[in-house]
Amino acid sequence: MQLAPGFSPPGPQSALLFETPEEMFTRVFREIKPRTQPPPIRVGFFPFANADSFIKLQDDRIHVRISDLLEGAPAPVLEALAYILIGKLYRRPVPRLYAHRYRLYLNRRDMRRQMHLVRQIRGRKFLSGAEGVHYDLNEIFERLNARYFNGLLGRPLLGWSRQPSRSMLGHFDPSHNAIIISRIFDSASVPLLALEYVLFHEMLHLRYPVDHRGVRRRVHTKEFRAAERQFPNVKKAKEILKAL
Ligand SMILES: [Zn+2]
Repeated sequence: MQLAPGFSPPGPQSALLFETPEEMFTRVFREIKPRTQPPPIRVGFFPFANADSFIKLQDDRIHVRISDLLEGAPAPVLEALAYILIGKLYRRPVPRLYAHRYRLYLNRRDMRRQMHLVRQIRGRKFLSGAEGVHYDLNEIFERLNARYFNGLLGRPLLGWSRQPSRSMLGHFDPSHNAIIISRIFDSASVPLLALEYVLFHEMLHLRYPVDHRGVRRRVHTKEFRAAERQFPNVKKAKEILKAL
C-alpha cells in the first residue's frame, strides 16, 4: 500500500523526542519498507538477565521485547535498536550508523556495569523482575516514593525472592542497588499494607545509608527511625507481619 500523497514521514531529528516506542518502531518500519502498511507494533520492556531483545511477527502484529536495561536509554539508541530489529525481521542490512550507535551505547562503562550487576542479581537472587503474580513492586515503589519522598528516590532494581521467606521479609543490597522482597507477600491473602510497610522500610535504607562513624555500625539511625514513624498504621502492619 502506498502512503497518502503529500505524506512524508517525519525525520529523526524532529520526531525523536516526542515518540512513544511504538511510534518510533512504526516510523522505522516505514523507512525500511516504504511500500508496506505497517502492522500494529507492540513494544514491551522485560527484566531479562542481559541486554538481548527480540522481535517476531505473529497474528499480523509485530511484537518487540526489549531488555528493561534499555528502558531509560536515549531515544537515538532505541531508534538504532529499531533499525537493527526490524532489519533482522525482514532480512535487510542494518545501516552501519545504527549498528555502531547501538554497540557504542552498550559498551559504555556505566552500561557494562549495569549489565554485569543485572546478570549477577537476576542470575542468582531474582527469578523474576518487579512484577509478581499479585503485586507489582515498581508500581508500589513509585506510589510510596511520591507519598513519602517527594518522588525523589531513584528506583533501584526491585525483585521478589526465590523462596517465600518468613525470616527475611525484605532486604536492601547496596552493592547491587537492589531491594529484594520476600515472595511471601506476593499473594492475594496478604494485605497491601504489610507489603507497603516492608518496602517502605527498605526504601528508608536507600534514603539513610548505614552510619559508619565511630566504632558501631548503625543501620537504623535516629533519622531512620524518625522517618519510619511517618508511616501510618505501623501497628496494624506489624500485626499482619506477625501472623504471616
Ligand atoms: Zn532495616
